[in-house]
Amino acid sequence: MYNLKELSEEIKHCRRCKLWRTRKNPVPGSGNPKADIMLIGEAPGRNEDIEGKPFVGEAGKILDQLLSSINLNREQVYIANILKCRPPGNRDPSREEIDACTPFLDRQIELIKPRIIVTLGNFATRYILEKFNLKAESIGKIHGSIFNFKDRNLKIVPVYHPASALYNPKIKKIMLDDFEVIGELIEGI
Ligand code: URA
Repeated sequence: MYNLKELSEEIKHCRRCKLWRTRKNPVPGSGNPKADIMLIGEAPGRNEDIEGKPFVGEAGKILDQLLSSINLNREQVYIANILKCRPPGNRDPSREEIDACTPFLDRQIELIKPRIIVTLGNFATRYILEKFNLKAESIGKIHGSIFNFKDRNLKIVPVYHPASALYNPKIKKIMLDDFEVIGELIEGI
């Protein structure tokens, strides 16, 4: 059976869009392949591109604080991104890049079978909610809401992107509150 490691190998050799030309390293994802909770970000930034791992820069420090506020660490969750390669200059992902790359994310979700998906920011929220046939409103409106797909045994919780909390204590407080909601969901699993 095709597993996450094999999928990561495929991602490392991917040339489905132009980003392979400018990336240093692809960033398939990291964490527990059997995680109940999966977090999905936007795309690798400068540090992630260098290290080949998701959320290793400043936004990653915020993410670690948020996880630890509900007694979670990176070994207990799986973290992936919409795009596996860094867009030059950290520009927004393009439609073509999202279309080319998200089959990898879809397969990661199928293999991990998380019970809770936390989408980090607008790009991940839009992609995941639309994948499950919902229209996504902006993260400012729907952060902290629980989208419950009972037939799939899956809950989706959109939150702000951790980078937006970097210099904004108000957003950080909102994120801590939203993670409390996630913590309560985990207790109910
Ligand atoms: N921002 C993201 O969305 N993903 C990362 O991996 C790092 C920063």
